[in-house]
Amino acid sequence: MAAPLQPCPDVSLVIPVYNEEENLPVLHGEIRQAMEGAGVLYEVIYVDDGSTDGSPEILRGLARGDAHVRILRQRRNAGQSAALDAGFRFARGPVVVTLDADLQNDPADIPRLLARLDGFDVVSGVRAQRRDTWVRRISSRIANGIRNRVTRETVTDVGCTLRAARTEYLRRIHVFNGMHRFLPTLLRMEGARITEVPVNHRPRLHGVPKYNIRNRALRALVDLFGVRWLQTRWIDRRLSEEITGEDEARG
Ligand code: UDP
Ligand code: MG
Repeated sequence: MAAPLQPCPDVSLVIPVYNEEENLPVLHGEIRQAMEGAGVLYEVIYVDDGSTDGSPEILRGLARGDAHVRILRQRRNAGQSAALDAGFRFARGPVVVTLDADLQNDPADIPRLLARLDGFDVVSGVRAQRRDTWVRRISSRIANGIRNRVTRETVTDVGCTLRAARTEYLRRIHVFNGMHRFLPTLLRMEGARITEVPVNHRPRLHGVPKYNIRNRALRALVDLFGVRWLQTRWIDRRLSEEITGEDEARG
């Protein structure tokens, strides 16, 4: 029998999982350690993005042993953006923290991200010392530069998935397959106040990266022009306001 649902949490962790069987038990141990000390009510939403390895079974085991855990399953592999979006809609907390399941992000950074939310709607991690191959580091530096120039942005490290954001903004953004590479821009378009903090980054020890230059670069470029187009055609819904009879009387 599933454990009873915990009371409404302050924070929902949303973690996309695609074939990460070796990483999940370690990750969950680190999350527990980080969150027990954080002094907030939390839930951990693992979004299994159609894994074909032992991840689903491991997640079920984690949920049996810990009432903070909730599992969402995509019926087939639908991509990191789709998994995140499903998690955003499923989250019960007013704040969502996203991180990868591959242990490259460090859950110990989460309390610091949450503390910075005061006065902001999004706190984005910046990998100060990136632990990836040089090909990845250089290609993402070039990608960040081009992306910032085309979208008139100043995002330092859009590829860092470790973020805290207010759930209301995450639910409002335009979603598409690939949106995870543009989240700060999409959130800013919705009026979110964004800040950045340096975070730890670690090498991937188990499992394989799901992206490489070939399957990432062209798609990201097409998406970039899509996002730019959306920016130039943007309708700012926040401009609409109701005028009541009382306002009219006051002139
Ligand atoms: N992921 C996913 N669906 C996919 C590809 C990746 O849910 O189709 C998850 C993956 O398990 C990991 C995160 O998204 O938790 C980031 O993937 P990865 O570490 O391969 O990306 P990179 O570090 O290369 O940006
Ligand atoms: Mg990774």
